[in-house]
Amino acid sequence: MDEKLRDAIEKRRDDLITLTRELIRFPTINPPGEAYTPCAEYLARRLQQSGFETQLIRGVGTPGDTDRFPRTNVVARFDGRTHGQTVHFNSHIDVVDTGEGWTVDPFEALVRDGKIYGRGACDMKGGLAASIVAADAFLAVYPDFRGAIEISGTADEESGGFGGVAHLARLGYFSKPRVDHVIIPEPLDKDRICLGHRGVWWAEIETRGEIAHGSMPFLGDCAIRHMGAVIEAFEKELFPALDLKQTAMPVVPEGARRSTMNINSVHGGQTEDFKPGLPSPNVPDSCRLTIDRRFLLEEDLGEVKGEVRAILERLKGERPKFDYELRDVMEVLPTMTERGAPVVTAVAEGIRAVFGKEPAYVISPGTYDQKHVARIGHLHDCIAYGPGRLDLAHRPDEWVGISDMVESAKVMAISLDVLLRGGRG
Ligand SMILES: [Zn+2]
Repeated sequence: MDEKLRDAIEKRRDDLITLTRELIRFPTINPPGEAYTPCAEYLARRLQQSGFETQLIRGVGTPGDTDRFPRTNVVARFDGRTHGQTVHFNSHIDVVDTGEGWTVDPFEALVRDGKIYGRGACDMKGGLAASIVAADAFLAVYPDFRGAIEISGTADEESGGFGGVAHLARLGYFSKPRVDHVIIPEPLDKDRICLGHRGVWWAEIETRGEIAHGSMPFLGDCAIRHMGAVIEAFEKELFPALDLKQTAMPVVPEGARRSTMNINSVHGGQTEDFKPGLPSPNVPDSCRLTIDRRFLLEEDLGEVKGEVRAILERLKGERPKFDYELRDVMEVLPTMTERGAPVVTAVAEGIRAVFGKEPAYVISPGTYDQKHVARIGHLHDCIAYGPGRLDLAHRPDEWVGISDMVESAKVMAISLDVLLRGGRG
């Protein structure tokens, strides 16, 4: 029944390769948010050729938005002959910095052995290109469909999505009645459906001390020693306790199927950032530490914070002069779309048709733009599904497989058929 759609995708294989390569050639590195506008303008032109109406929407006033680095988003819409439901494919156009260790040019989009190499190939310009080709194929085969298809290319996912999906969600672009179903082609693998992600709590802890001459530390109070006591308590109590908190959420990789915490940074004492380098001479009066705590559906954010605060409060009773401040930096609640949700069952049907097997249902260890769709847009029929392997994202020599893109474009096209035409084939 899906033969026509699959053929239509096969016919567009070269187009899919060209589109992916052209997208990779825009060095949309974030931060700072380079080349967003030319990339969004290119997408707008490309989608207009497919019959979409397009809008460029700048995240004016969002973090990082300046005239030099405008947070430019593109939203494209194709309305069918008659009114019906809307399926939206959302991809971020930003990529992370290249880093060291590349053996190919990260923005040349080299094709070799069935793979396209480049920064953003897998995360997630390959997925964006696959969704465009899936829509093209669907429109060619079923021009009289009911409903609408939207495709967006958005800014800033790698830095929190504030100038991208969060901004558009505030303007109503990710809410009913405009949109019913959202597919985010993040690189979660072509036969897996990502239902959501764990929660995040970033916080900064500061211990306080008293400045004094380094030769007479007894006259002051060392904030770094206080922080050492905090880290020791984390090692002895908190990390072992977090290891024991397992989740029923199907998080991949399996190591993330429990609570985790990272200590992202420690900064204590006076700065030594003077070149060629002057040592810090004093007893430090401040030490700051940033934590990245990932939590589970089974946990309550208040309890998550309470565990850390309880340790700090206890130290206050135990250590003379110990004082601290605990500041929230970022909070994201965990989210998991129901397995029976329409977009999940539609993509599952596509995966069954293309691969002849049941999909794997997974949860991402980290967050992505689904959080804004759920929390700001109040739209819960949302998943991540796309080609590319998650473990290649953000690495040197990132690549996406051409046949993976072709196969996931077929899954996306069949999902459109299921959601907009009831899968009548
Ligand atoms: Zn991504």
